[in-house]
Amino acid sequence: MIIAIDGEASTGKSTQAKKIAKELNIDYKDSGAYYRAITLFLIRNQINSREKLDNDLLSKIHISQKFKNDTFSIFLNGEDVTSKIRGHKVSISVSEYAKKPEIRKFVYNLLRKSSKLSSIIIDGRDIGTVVFPDADYKFFLYANPEIRAKRRHKEINDESVKIESIEREIRERDNKDSTRDIAPLKKAEDAHVIDVGYLTIDQVFEEILEKIIY
Ligand code: C5P
Repeated sequence: MIIAIDGEASTGKSTQAKKIAKELNIDYKDSGAYYRAITLFLIRNQINSREKLDNDLLSKIHISQKFKNDTFSIFLNGEDVTSKIRGHKVSISVSEYAKKPEIRKFVYNLLRKSSKLSSIIIDGRDIGTVVFPDADYKFFLYANPEIRAKRRHKEINDESVKIESIEREIRERDNKDSTRDIAPLKKAEDAHVIDVGYLTIDQVFEEILEKIIY
């Protein structure tokens, strides 16, 4: 079974995917975390997003994800980069790197390999449209950017970070992700759409679970 959860930035896709994975006892992969880890690797190696990436370079990137006992971790060449990939520099650069066809192909291979091993839930932008167009269940989450920024701000819990700058980053990322030529962020025709803006985490979870179970 393959479950795709796509949607806009900061709509709680990974929170939901992890809850569903736990509830159904299936595997979970965060596709955005792959793009973030690759971005971190390339930034560290001073490779900008306009450079062509050859196979030699890509073969130096080894990423693995683990979801165990409610905890998600991601490793880049053996280093735990779970928190590092959420940093500001990666967040503002990732969409530029994620546009590159060679990077998308790299991530698609990882995701498709994982899906062969067990039932899986994956969150991202193009999981139900491009990576797994035949997924068994597809969801698309969206919400007003202002609400998403407020929620994100509360989660970050750092008064020095302004809500307005979070909202700007969210809008910019959505804009870049939905207007790119390859695999843009968009709702799959057959996705179940949820406006998460006025629902709690548990309400969204129940709505998703209900669709899968009944
Ligand atoms: O999900 P998250 O916000 O961590 O994703 C970070 C970025 O990775 C997105 O803004 C997008 O540019 C890229 N991404 C993508 N396709 C996916 C998942 C993420 O292009 N399936």
